[in-house]
Amino acid sequence: MKYLVVGGAGYIGSHMVKHLLQAGHDVVVADIAPTGPGIEWVELDIANAQALDALFAECRFDAVFHFASHIQVGESVADPDKYYHNNVAATLTLLEAMIRARIKYLIFSSSAAVYGDPHYTPIDEAHPKAPINPYGRSKWMVEQILQDFDRAYGLKSVSLRYFNAAGADPDGQLGECHEPETHLIPLILQAASGRRQAITVFGHDYDTPDGTCIRDYVHVADLASAHELAVQYLLAGGDTTAFNLGNGQGFSVQAVIETARAATGQRIEVIEAPRRDGDPARLVADASRARELLGWAPRFAGLETIVGHAWGWEQRYPWR
Ligand code: UDP
Repeated sequence: MKYLVVGGAGYIGSHMVKHLLQAGHDVVVADIAPTGPGIEWVELDIANAQALDALFAECRFDAVFHFASHIQVGESVADPDKYYHNNVAATLTLLEAMIRARIKYLIFSSSAAVYGDPHYTPIDEAHPKAPINPYGRSKWMVEQILQDFDRAYGLKSVSLRYFNAAGADPDGQLGECHEPETHLIPLILQAASGRRQAITVFGHDYDTPDGTCIRDYVHVADLASAHELAVQYLLAGGDTTAFNLGNGQGFSVQAVIETARAATGQRIEVIEAPRRDGDPARLVADASRARELLGWAPRFAGLETIVGHAWGWEQRYPWR
C-alpha cells in the first residue's frame, strides 16, 4: 500500500512511519519538520490546499494517517485560536483535498480528552463526549466532522482515542522529544538523568489511593500497530468509527515515579505542587472494542517496559 503520514516527523507519527516501512509499505511523510534520514519527506503544512492538491496529483495514496496537531491542554486554554485553527481548520483543508483526490480512507489521532471528566471508569467509547478544554473540543469537532463527511462524501475514517501515549522505540532509534516537554514520563526521566533537578508532581489530594492522578499509559509502538490494524479494517470495508487505545490499567503519578526509580537506579527528587488545571483524577481506558474488532493485542503493556524503553532513549540521545 502507499500511505501518506501527515505529522510523520513527530513522536507518534515517526513510530508509525517505522512500523509501516517495516511492514513493507510505501510511505511518504508530510510535515513542517524534517524526518530522519532515508524517509521520503515532503515539507508541507496541511493548511496549504494547493500544496496538498499538488502532492495528491503526484502520488496516489491508498490512505492517510493524520498525526499533525497541537497537543498541550494548558496552551489550548490560553490560545484556543491556535488549536481551532490548526487542529480543526487545517484538518478540514486536508479532508477537502482528500475528497478532491478521491482518497477514501483516513486514520485520525484523537484523544481521551474528548470524554472530559469521566462519569465512570474504565471509559468505553459510548461514554458521553464532553471535553473540558479547547484541545479536547478540537479533537471531538474533527470526529463529528468525520461522521458527517462519511455520510455526505463517503470518506471512511477511524478515530483513535489515545489515553497516555508513552515509551519509545524498542530498537532505540526513536523516542519522545517535545519542546517544551510537558509529559510525565520524559520529565521524570530527565530528572533521573540529571537534565532536570526534580519532577514536579501536580496534586497530592486527589481521591485516589496515594492522592496522585491515575492514568493509562500505552506504548507508542502499540499505538502504531493499532493504526495499521485500523487501516486494514477500513480497507476491508469497515465503517467509520472510533476506538479507545489504552491498556485498561491505571498507574498513579507516584507509581510511575517509583517504577522510574527502580528502572534507573536514581533517587529522582520530587517537588509537590498544586493540581494542574483540567486534570481529572482518573483516566483509564476500556479498549476491549479495539481488541475485539481490530484484533489489537498490545505487546508492551507493562509500565516497567514502557518506562524502560523511554529510559533507553533518554540515555542514548545527544542532548547532553
Ligand atoms: N504530571 C505531573 N507533573 C508533570 C507532568 C505531569 O504530576 O510535570 C501529571 C499530570 O498532572 C497527570 C499525569 O502526570 O496527572 C500525566 O500527565 P501528562 O501531561 O503526561 O499527560 P496527560 O494526562 O495530561 O495527557
